[in-house]
Amino acid sequence: MKRLAFALGLSISLAQSPAIHAAEPASTATAARQSAVQRALPFADRQDDDFAGRGFVATRSDPKIPGPGGIAWDLSTYDFLKGSAPPTVNPSLWRQAQLLSRHGLFKVADRIWQVRGFDIANITFIKGDTGWIVIDTLTTKETAKAALDLVTEKLGPRPIKAIIYTHSHSDHFGGARGLVDQADVGSGATEVIAPAGFLAEAVSENVLAGTAMSRRATYQFGFFLPPGPQGQVSSGIGQAISKGTTTLLPPTMTIDHTGQEMTIDGVRLQFQITPGTEAPAEMNINIPDLHVLDMAENANVSMHNVLTPRGALVRDAKAWSEYLTQSIRLYGDGAEVMMTSHGWPRFGHDAVIAFLTDHRDAYKYLHDQTVRMMNEGLTGPEIANRISLPDALARDWFNRGYYGTMSFNARAVYQRYMGFYDANPANLAPLDPADQAARYIKAIGGAKKVLALARAARASADDRWAVTLLNDLVLAEPDNRSAREMLAGAYDQLGYQSESALWRNMYLTGAMELRSGIRSGQSTASIDLIRNLPSAMLFDLISVRLNPEKAAGATLRLALTFPDRSERYYVLVRNGVLVAEPIAPPGPVDATISMPRSQLISALFLRSSLAGVRIEGDPQALSRLIGWLDVFKPDFPIVTRPAAR
Ligand SMILES: [Zn+2]
Repeated sequence: MKRLAFALGLSISLAQSPAIHAAEPASTATAARQSAVQRALPFADRQDDDFAGRGFVATRSDPKIPGPGGIAWDLSTYDFLKGSAPPTVNPSLWRQAQLLSRHGLFKVADRIWQVRGFDIANITFIKGDTGWIVIDTLTTKETAKAALDLVTEKLGPRPIKAIIYTHSHSDHFGGARGLVDQADVGSGATEVIAPAGFLAEAVSENVLAGTAMSRRATYQFGFFLPPGPQGQVSSGIGQAISKGTTTLLPPTMTIDHTGQEMTIDGVRLQFQITPGTEAPAEMNINIPDLHVLDMAENANVSMHNVLTPRGALVRDAKAWSEYLTQSIRLYGDGAEVMMTSHGWPRFGHDAVIAFLTDHRDAYKYLHDQTVRMMNEGLTGPEIANRISLPDALARDWFNRGYYGTMSFNARAVYQRYMGFYDANPANLAPLDPADQAARYIKAIGGAKKVLALARAARASADDRWAVTLLNDLVLAEPDNRSAREMLAGAYDQLGYQSESALWRNMYLTGAMELRSGIRSGQSTASIDLIRNLPSAMLFDLISVRLNPEKAAGATLRLALTFPDRSERYYVLVRNGVLVAEPIAPPGPVDATISMPRSQLISALFLRSSLAGVRIEGDPQALSRLIGWLDVFKPDFPIVTRPAAR
């Protein structure tokens, strides 16, 4: 922490600040808003309760699933979600969390079962003629193994004939090694099937920006919030991500076009490829003989994210809606049951079609109305403040914003077409936020005046304006305890009021860090993922760590060979830039180095030694290069900023 704080020029180290106060209780205004939600939404509609409970077989007897650091998952974590919502939780979110926290083995249809509530996602088991076909594997091998153990206990032991990854996100492939070993895949006993582009997307999506995304993900998922009525209650499409070991078994077969069909262990499967929707590589699966449609993560029990708040490339709401139309046309007629990678299934042809059609309309409305307002001259925040779904769509529980929100998604659609710039020249060269904030505070008349204005705003339940004032004061005066506590209190209330689990997690994590400082997390770029990177991508990852101040204008030329992979690279550092090409050196080099690629990865990411590396020429060349690389840690400040430069 200290090292990072120094690098960013921070004047204080938040990690050392003692806790200030605990979270506030719900204010009168918050309680009134919760009551209004209770009156406005169709809580008497119990269809989801029926669907989420249908086919229940049993759950695990020991609620704790062990993991590397203690517990990977605890089925009793959300036992507090009983009865009606407390005033500190939006009643609509409370209802969603109750449904998502149900756990166990459920029969979905003839020959199909799901284990739900063992991780953020679902794992699906299809009974083939001789073994299981598994769709998606949860996030970690510990929870995947626990799910398989439950299936074996209740349904008998069967070999796993195939694993199908619906898409390239780790909550759908990370548990693979809890089900089978690489040896089972190598021998051909288990096929691993994935959509085209899966491996490249799976290893690359969280790598280059992985540290920043990991840090932001601690906000999005509320990793450090204690579960409870004043803390984390859900993640909106599942309860939380398991804390185990993320693994990767590369696919042996690829699905590359819609209409592709295959029979695995006696079960006929039809595929619809949907690239660039929820994930860059994703597919839906129709099982025509069982009348079951698997919509992967393209249809959910919530509006999804067009732009995920932890950070990601922006998604395409228009393509998303078009693929949903295609699903209805291709598979709607025969579908009696629809299941998904998160949440509970839909039963009955009419319920499936009504769901897919209204869900499609929601994404189309989001896209079309954002673009309409954009063309009428409104900017992202203005559209976000004006857009909401029509009543008929908003009353569908599955269209509500437990994960993505209309407000956030409208700005994402704007970003996709227009970028971050709103065309106002005042925003071409903005001041640093901390610099601007300090000037505003001075212009208003100083910290005391701002605190008084903020207190008045809070008293009149205008928490968004209070947050605007107090955020500037905290940026200008990060040591101002009154400002930090008042801002944290405003975040508490906004978090309690949020229908989105993610917004709640982000507000409450912001409040927690204002009160008690930063806790460091883990990067998503696990070593298993890095080891699967193509070498070109590995050099991309090294390039973005190069700090030009440390390299100080130096030039370095290396000839690097990886005998274990029969690869060679010419690496050139000059002008603060690292360029790696898979060629023989075009001229003299400072050093010729031969080493297994795994050793380079260990030296770079686990700081292990370079002993035994064969270096001809300058013996210090490689360690000099490593010395120029920054070490990323996912614990940078978010609710405070570096001082102005
Ligand atoms: Zn997922």
